Amino acid sequence: MKVVVVGTGYVGLVQGVCLAELGNSVVCVDTDEEKIERLKKGISPIYEPGIEELLQRNLKAKRVSFTTSLKGCLKGSDVVFITVGTPSDEDGRADLKYVLKCAEDIGKNLQEYSIIVNKSTVPIGTGEMVKKTIARYYDGDFSVISNPEFLREGSAIEDWMKPDRVIIGYSDDKEAAENLGNLYSALGSPTLITNIVTAEMIKYASNSLLATEISFINSISRICEKVGADVTEVAEGMKLDKRIGANAFLTAGLGYGGSCFPKDVSALIKIARDNGAEFKILEEVEAVNLSQRQRIIQKLKKELGNLKGKKIGLWGIAFKPETDDIRMAPAITIIEALEDLGAQVYAFDAVAGENVQKIFPELVLEESAIDVCEGADALLIVTEWDEFKEINLNEIKSKMKSPIILDGRNIFSPEKMRDYGFIYHSVGRPLNQKGTKCKKQQAYL
Ligand code: NAD
Repeated sequence: MKVVVVGTGYVGLVQGVCLAELGNSVVCVDTDEEKIERLKKGISPIYEPGIEELLQRNLKAKRVSFTTSLKGCLKGSDVVFITVGTPSDEDGRADLKYVLKCAEDIGKNLQEYSIIVNKSTVPIGTGEMVKKTIARYYDGDFSVISNPEFLREGSAIEDWMKPDRVIIGYSDDKEAAENLGNLYSALGSPTLITNIVTAEMIKYASNSLLATEISFINSISRICEKVGADVTEVAEGMKLDKRIGANAFLTAGLGYGGSCFPKDVSALIKIARDNGAEFKILEEVEAVNLSQRQRIIQKLKKELGNLKGKKIGLWGIAFKPETDDIRMAPAITIIEALEDLGAQVYAFDAVAGENVQKIFPELVLEESAIDVCEGADALLIVTEWDEFKEINLNEIKSKMKSPIILDGRNIFSPEKMRDYGFIYHSVGRPLNQKGTKCKKQQAYL
């Protein structure tokens, strides 16, 4: 098929190169000239495992091309994907300005029938708005379909190639939905064809449930710290229940971040409110998530007292490993809080450094995880990159001024850290500083 992808960010670029890899002819459009110039040279503007290889292979085979203008691209296209951003607006609703501008551009450039597919995460009813916007500029026939994306940054190519499911929503043109389904048929994944508003809701409901699982286990972790239970084992035991499932998002830590969960949870709360259906559980999910980031600062203050002038090392800035995306990353809130308290932050992240420097120009970025520890009063572990798990702990200890580690991602075992002589705090695993079980835990044993 001839495919056009409008918006070449994390989702659009993956969509474009993966469809090209399946043998389709793909044109990716983005208004960001610098991004398009890099892509034309085979350089990916994002860090995502495997993406550059796919990009270069399909550029060479002339199955994918990049441009800054929609003009002339839509001629002969079978499918046009909208994959632009839908950030939160000031009130926490999804801001549709990019989607609607895109619809306007499509309307102005459409000359013949095409299937317009909304892949951006959008509030219920946006499909209809896109349709009306296009129709304002183009009076010919076209279809608007919803096809939400579920890939995860860090494993985006694999997720795209082997999706758990393909969701397609249509309003009045079932044939267009089925044709779109054919584009994905080689993937062999279960496909649900439904109405457009249901498809839009499936995306928000899915992300919101995953976020709920994270806030749920973080709430459990707080109780674990009081009663002496180990949250990782609690989660392990829970996941053995098939109704909960082995892949449940029950990892206690600093909470969720990134470009999707925070804005999608916030948007669904607003969608509920706008429709007279309060979503109290989700409001609490959001509150727990934000306070989880403050807890590590509180624990740090308990250890060090006044943080003014203290040197704090920080491992990991990206909102999760295997990506350079720092949108709504816990590290941002934590760095902000530390700077407000007068601490000097020394950070390291193998791929997200360049992005964070745009927000915190004064932040000291070190060359390695070890360098961060030189003379540090304490170390915070914020993103669970694999390289941190393999680090030489003796070397870390010898570099630090005081051997205090606050692990927001539970990457080390408390017993091991005690044996190395660290004062080690993690999430929901209550060993006290001397490494003995806390009093309440002893009472339960
Ligand atoms: P992004 O911000 O990385 O990329 C959006 C791109 O669209 C940018 O490159 C921007 O320059 C471009 N753009 C904006 N307006 C344009 C226009 N009129 N014409 C052409 N290009 C335009 O966003 P993203 O992370 O790829 O997310 C896109 C959508 O997919 C969002 O709705 C998001 O919620 C959803 N989504 C994202 C992920 C993810 O992991 N990032 C996963 C699933 C769904």
